[in-house]
Amino acid sequence: MTTQILIVEDEPAIQVLLAHTLKQAGFAVLQAQNAETAMEMINDKLPDLVLLDWMLPKMSGIELARLMRRNERTKLLPIIMLTARVGESDKVSGLEIGADDYITKPFSPRELTARIKAVLRRRLPERSDDMIEINGLRLDPATYRISVSDREVTLGPTEFRLLLFLMTHAERVYTRSQLLDRVWGDHVFVEDRTIDVHIRRLRKALEVVGKDKLLQTVRGSGYRFTTSTEASVK
Ligand code: CA
Repeated sequence: MTTQILIVEDEPAIQVLLAHTLKQAGFAVLQAQNAETAMEMINDKLPDLVLLDWMLPKMSGIELARLMRRNERTKLLPIIMLTARVGESDKVSGLEIGADDYITKPFSPRELTARIKAVLRRRLPERSDDMIEINGLRLDPATYRISVSDREVTLGPTEFRLLLFLMTHAERVYTRSQLLDRVWGDHVFVEDRTIDVHIRRLRKALEVVGKDKLLQTVRGSGYRFTTSTEASVK
């Protein structure tokens, strides 16, 4: 899945530079010249991260960030603020509104990319290519391979994404609607039953290698992937 970044910047030259840098780094780029357009685009489809200029023509970047943090749908959307100001107090108020990071112009393309990747690693660990291993179950996002010792586990694409998400957020309980948002994506209509079907398929595949107990049902809440070693003993 390509990571989509929305750039909100009113200066055309910087907008072009940012878009070029991000495309080179392998990101899909969406562009808005002002906060109002950005809001429409976000309402239409959630990007994975917003690179937000502080000084915009009408509504400022700070105001837009505040609005996003107050809204249930966008409250966890990663935001990196971009600004020409260098004052320390600006930095503080940028982080106080809930921005994940803060970049001062002029910036080097390499620094920008590194900062974006750092925020994504922290906020969207399921997008990382790092190999994960929990209780002997190994998942390699780069090659789509899942294995236990030398035995491979074969999964459909949805089960793979589900397992990847749960393993990168191990020990946390996710409700069906949270899984829907995070695994199936924004604005996708799927019934709760469908999630249960995919969970069942995933368990069945894991059962073959004796790892199905790692995927726990939390009564009345949802599902959890556990790091507890007891769960992998059959
Ligand atoms: Ca500006």
